[in-house]
Amino acid sequence: MYKVKNLSVYCCSACSEVQVKTTTPKIRGCKRASFHNWMLIGEKGLNKYVCDGCGVKVNTMEVPLQNGCLGGKNHNWTKV
Ligand SMILES: [Zn+2]
Ligand SMILES: [Zn+2]
Repeated sequence: MYKVKNLSVYCCSACSEVQVKTTTPKIRGCKRASFHNWMLIGEKGLNKYVCDGCGVKVNTMEVPLQNGCLGGKNHNWTKV
């Protein structure tokens, strides 16, 4: 079996943009701040979660980490 590089899910705490990458995404291009402030929230997977606070939707293996919701709050994930 060949090994696939794990994809990580990143969410910007300033603009709520989500990117799925093997490494931290580029910090340029944030709509709400000078730079994106990427938070690693989990490993890409088949479970779908939505945050009650910022409305962001992600696909991860397990419940995503809570750090980095808008306004310095914690994400509040619900499985969908
Ligand atoms: Zn951003
Ligand atoms: Zn959130």
